Amino acid sequence: MSDFSTYKDLIQEGDLALIWVSRTMIKPITVDSKAVFSTRYGTFPHKDMIGKPYGSQIGIHTRGSGKFAFIHVLQPTPELWTLSLPHRTQIVYTPDSSYIMQRLNCNPQSRVIEAGTGSGSFSHAFARSVKQLYTFEFHELRYQQAKDEFKQHGLLDENTIITHRDVCKEGFSITSKDTTSHDFTANDEKKIILDADAIFLDLPAPWEAIPHLEEVIATDEKVGLCCFSPCIEQVDKTIEAMTENGWTNIQMVEIQGKRYESRRQMVRSLDDALGRLRDIKKRKLDGVKRRYQVMNEMTPEERNAVESNHIPLTDKARFNPFGKGGRVKEGDENFSWKEVTKVESEIKSHTSYLTFAFKIVNKVKDEKLVEETMQKVYA
Ligand code: SAM
Repeated sequence: MSDFSTYKDLIQEGDLALIWVSRTMIKPITVDSKAVFSTRYGTFPHKDMIGKPYGSQIGIHTRGSGKFAFIHVLQPTPELWTLSLPHRTQIVYTPDSSYIMQRLNCNPQSRVIEAGTGSGSFSHAFARSVKQLYTFEFHELRYQQAKDEFKQHGLLDENTIITHRDVCKEGFSITSKDTTSHDFTANDEKKIILDADAIFLDLPAPWEAIPHLEEVIATDEKVGLCCFSPCIEQVDKTIEAMTENGWTNIQMVEIQGKRYESRRQMVRSLDDALGRLRDIKKRKLDGVKRRYQVMNEMTPEERNAVESNHIPLTDKARFNPFGKGGRVKEGDENFSWKEVTKVESEIKSHTSYLTFAFKIVNKVKDEKLVEETMQKVYA
């Protein structure tokens, strides 16, 4: 079973695990009782992780300072993999991949074509959700790296076939003559029937690949196609090719990921603001008075030391005329609050245009099938 499609409770030797160091640093490891995971805060032996539940926090005392440093050991998911994978290309991020899969109606029965594979970010998300993934990559080294990674993650043993291919020139059929992860000898096959019902093209020239889809898509169900292109000129050409090749319901979408933080803000009146200004002024005057008093109580040597060496007059706790007042907890019932939102723009997604289209090759209505289905639905 793939590391990405099964859930397990405990961390075990040989597992692929993701180490959450911070929000911007998640590192994959293969758990090995003899190995350690090193960070700039210190070294975490894998053996301390083994036997603990996934999600556990592993702590160590940092060198010298005696402080505490920690990491979390997480089970891999396609979403976390997207944030931690080694980048070999631009990748598709979760805000886009989740939307695309929903629009293409991906489900456990789907047979999906993906080109190109790139860094395998989207491949992991597809592989978790669909019946079969056929992914194509024409760059030889990238093909090999993705194949090794998919093998290591269990995707090839489950539902993924990766093929080394220029899909714009040679299309999508997979035969025993191809360089592919599929083992044709096992069943003495010559060719795979793809029968794809969802296609995702992340290529520089998808319009060159679109005419080749006809021979590999399902003929008697609705097939969805999505092309991922950064330029509007590419979208133009893609739509032309879609139209020429009988794709309909064409729609272009751009995802702009934003995170809204919802919180409450204290409602302040003009009197509150005036009160605050008066308070600041009072604290300032008190501070000057207190400083004068303290300086007067000092010996000339102490005063000299304070003035020449910028030695603090007193410790912070005792003398802090400009310090902030006590904090008010958000939502405190003694104050009035209003709901506000703050937009965080820093969401990782690869702002590209998504062009969707759909096709039903065999449009003949099977009355018998319709009747049977309706009976099942209303039974
Ligand atoms: N969607 C991928 C992901 O999420 O990791 C990234 C895809 S990357 C932007 C595009 C990939 O398409 C590159 O690795 C490139 O080598 C491959 N490619 C470009 N033209 C191709 C073609 N005609 N046939 C197959 N692969 C192609």
